Amino acid sequence: MSKHDRLYKCEKPGCKMERGFTTSGGLSRHVRDVHGKGLELMCPYPGCTRSLQRGFKRKDHLNVHLRRVHKIGDAPRLL
Ligand SMILES: [Zn+2]
Ligand SMILES: [Zn+2]
Repeated sequence: MSKHDRLYKCEKPGCKMERGFTTSGGLSRHVRDVHGKGLELMCPYPGCTRSLQRGFKRKDHLNVHLRRVHKIGDAPRLL
């Protein structure tokens, strides 16, 4: 077992991407591209549960999450 074994795996039902991703960013992009078609806004913080499986349907919901959980203001522009 090495440190590099840690993978982020897609947990969407029926997903064929079984290899997993080495970064949470890669996984969230996969989820958005393959499963979400951009419908969900994901939290930009790596490791946050809302950055992986459950995004937000509305940007103001994401902003509330960012303020409450991460103590920052509106979502960064990269979203
Ligand atoms: Zn997937
Ligand atoms: Zn978050």
